[in-house]
Amino acid sequence: MIYSASDLIIFASVLNNILCSVVGCLFLLQIRSGLSGYQRLSASYFFLFFLLLGSAFFAMAIRSWVPLGYSVLINNALYMSVAYLLLFGTLSWYKKPIKSWLWKLAVIHVLAYTAVQYVVYYYWPGTLQLRVQLAFLNFIMVYLPAYWVCYRHRHQNGRGERMLALSAVVCMIAASFPTIALIMTNSPDYYRVAVVVTQNIVCFFLLGSLLSLFLFNQIDWHYERSIRDELTGLYNRRYINERITQSLSNSSSRGVIAVVDIDHFKKVNDSFGHDVGDNTLIAVSNILKSFMGQQDLIGRYGGEEFVLFLSQSDSESVKTLLKEMCRAVETKASIMLPNPVTISVGYSEVSDEDTLHSLFSKADSALYMAKRNGRNCIIKK
Ligand code: GH3
Ligand code: MG
Ligand code: MG
Repeated sequence: MIYSASDLIIFASVLNNILCSVVGCLFLLQIRSGLSGYQRLSASYFFLFFLLLGSAFFAMAIRSWVPLGYSVLINNALYMSVAYLLLFGTLSWYKKPIKSWLWKLAVIHVLAYTAVQYVVYYYWPGTLQLRVQLAFLNFIMVYLPAYWVCYRHRHQNGRGERMLALSAVVCMIAASFPTIALIMTNSPDYYRVAVVVTQNIVCFFLLGSLLSLFLFNQIDWHYERSIRDELTGLYNRRYINERITQSLSNSSSRGVIAVVDIDHFKKVNDSFGHDVGDNTLIAVSNILKSFMGQQDLIGRYGGEEFVLFLSQSDSESVKTLLKEMCRAVETKASIMLPNPVTISVGYSEVSDEDTLHSLFSKADSALYMAKRNGRNCIIKK
């Protein structure tokens, strides 16, 4: 049997898409094993997405060896299921349970759509354009809600979620190509090429965006852990140092650096245990955090020591803010303790010549003086 060059190219392209789907399946299987909860469920739906997409491509690759009726049945059922799997994967990613009514709707829609496509093919064989338009409308009905779910969460979307939203839009646009090709040319050849182009776009775009979705999520999770202190959730020393150095490199940088240390904290641990000590650290950090403005930074520098980088440099308002902070700690932080918890604060204003090191040594020596002064006080240097 001799095939034309264009047939072979289309066959090669479909083969390419099968391989891409296999890569998608393997990737999602691997990443799924390290996930839990809704993310795992989402990875499972996306795995099925590639599995069925690959199967649809396979069915397309062998269509000349099976009766066309089978091909119409199988392909339509698979493509519509694939659209629903994208919707289910997206919903699960956003922690939305797939309600039973949606499952039922999906099953009924896939079966009814496939039946209608088959009946139209069987009884009105010359109506390819009608079937293609029907397919387009039905795909849009499922891809649109998938995009809508991403759009509704746009404020919390990270880089991966934005890629997912984009690929839902791309799916909708690509789904229109076969319809446009048929309307404009009325040629089955152009139509076949448009179908292959659509398949390529959907397959590669989704592979790329699902890779981004899961990998960016993991990267962001690890990054967030690397800049936070585990106990209090405040920024850690490394991150605070980096941010302050960054601010200082800006020539117009102004502000105040304050070092805060809990007084006699060792006694809290020794008298009431480490857990009470930990909870006191959390309570103090929450109180300090509540005084921070949008431009301010707060971190746990180590042990029972915190660093504040305040963007305001007006001496009076800084002093008032620090005083209110000390009072708030004294009155609110000792819920579990018989005596009030107090803090000592040393601070220094940023000047043009300051480096991270010089700023910290000024604030540290101010803190040292505050401790020597009897603690529970604020010293500026
Ligand atoms: P001063 O008023 O001079 O600052 O006295 P202090 O007791 O607060 O300071 P010191 O440096 O002697 O002791 C700090 C204590 O903080 C010792 C350590 O056990 C405790 N600590 C450090 N990190 C943690 C932590 O993560 N959890 C708890 N519970 N305790 C911690
Ligand atoms: Mg202390
Ligand atoms: Mg200390």
